[in-house]
Amino acid sequence: MYTMKNITIVGGGPAALMLANHLDTTRYNVTIYDQKKSVGRKFLVAGEGGLNLTYSSPISELTNQYVPQNFMATALTQFTNEDLITWLETIGIPTFIGSSNRVFPSEELKPIEVLNKIVENLKTKGINFQLNKQWNGWTTAGDLHFEGQEDIVSDIVVFALGGASWKVTGSDGEWINAFEQLNIKTIAFRSANCAFGVNWKKTFIATYAGKPLKNIAVRFANQTTKGELVLSKFGLEGNAIYALSRNIQQALESEEHVDIEIDLKPMLTTTELMVKYQNSTLSKVTGILKEDLNLDRTAIGLLKQFTDKEAFTNPDLLIATIKAVPITLSAVEDIDRAISTLGGIDLDEVDEHFQLKKIPNTYAIGEMLDWYAPTGGYLLQGCFSMGFSLAQHLNESITDNENE
Ligand SMILES: Cc1cc2nc3c(=O)[nH]c(=O)nc-3n(C[C@H](O)[C@H](O)[C@H](O)COP(=O)(O)OP(=O)(O)OC[C@H]3O[C@@H](n4cnc5c(N)ncnc54)[C@H](O)[C@@H]3O)c2cc1C
Repeated sequence: MYTMKNITIVGGGPAALMLANHLDTTRYNVTIYDQKKSVGRKFLVAGEGGLNLTYSSPISELTNQYVPQNFMATALTQFTNEDLITWLETIGIPTFIGSSNRVFPSEELKPIEVLNKIVENLKTKGINFQLNKQWNGWTTAGDLHFEGQEDIVSDIVVFALGGASWKVTGSDGEWINAFEQLNIKTIAFRSANCAFGVNWKKTFIATYAGKPLKNIAVRFANQTTKGELVLSKFGLEGNAIYALSRNIQQALESEEHVDIEIDLKPMLTTTELMVKYQNSTLSKVTGILKEDLNLDRTAIGLLKQFTDKEAFTNPDLLIATIKAVPITLSAVEDIDRAISTLGGIDLDEVDEHFQLKKIPNTYAIGEMLDWYAPTGGYLLQGCFSMGFSLAQHLNESITDNENE
């Protein structure tokens, strides 16, 4: 007979749910606490724009997307994108690889059905749920204090409290004060994977707000990302800029504005564009852009904003602008609208198993730690991999302790 140990998981997002799914429940009594009346609310919000669960690529390429890479590499190798896809399949969530190698649940499954299957699996395993319970710090004796509840003593505590965007989902970042009080170093939350403000001409944005620029590339400093942008009243959003968001956000901390360039034709060189332009049988520039260079109305509208009459009718200047539309960004989107946040617990505060160095048997996983990944399924993959990795460590350590 083994002595059962208690694990208290505080926060019920993807990192927590994956951890609980893989803990050995013959050895651990596992309880998940969440301050909302149901778990996985941000996971459901993520599903509103297409639930991008992970990214299909060799593991080395996957790992390259994370900052810092060395912090995430072990967890990602222990539970890869392939492992996630296989595990989801075993609990009745088939997936497919969509455009740009993004992995989504089968089209028949709504995000709520995906979440329900994960939660049902947890219930079958005997995981307990304590909902509407807000953790707000430690007692002087070091027990967990939940608002209006008796204090909790637990053999092992895992925090999976998330970042600080979309507060309505429960991920409000308020927990940071309790950690600071224990001298655990934290870093202020900032928006990541977010839109950036552009001072558009009113007449231009009135026509083009909500319109996409597809198959473009964005350059900032020495980085280029291909993808899509959407023009909005606030500025620019979409995966091509989200992928640069960490660096742009950092630059905007010290500069009033930063300059980026949009390449409207990243698959063609300047010379190739010029050949197409010169071979055109059309006389009007707009016609050539549309028919021969295959630019849509939004791209042409943007181009007109950033070229004067002389440049628009000069093929050299026009093509140079097609390859590098200069845009000035002057603001970062409000943190509550960001897809993810930078900041949280400083990575130096946890060991290689995500255990807090200052509080034994207490761990922190998921977005509450200060790591970054772009959109594309990398955020969820990172959270799932951390949850799995910690479960494996805890399962192994309880066996090792008994064998000693
Ligand atoms: C609009 C949007 C779209 C997104 N799309 C994608 C996508 O397509 N692909 C992708 O990979 N990622 C996406 N993400 C990001 C992804 O959803 C998050 O990175 C992920 O949910 C983080 O998981 P987590 O387990 O760390 O924490 P969270 O999911 O944030 O969960 C934290 C939980 O902790 C609870 N909690 C917080 N404080 C307390 C407290 N004091 N007491 C008790 N409980 C507490 C919260 O209620 C919450 O349930 C998206 C995010 C947003 C906002």
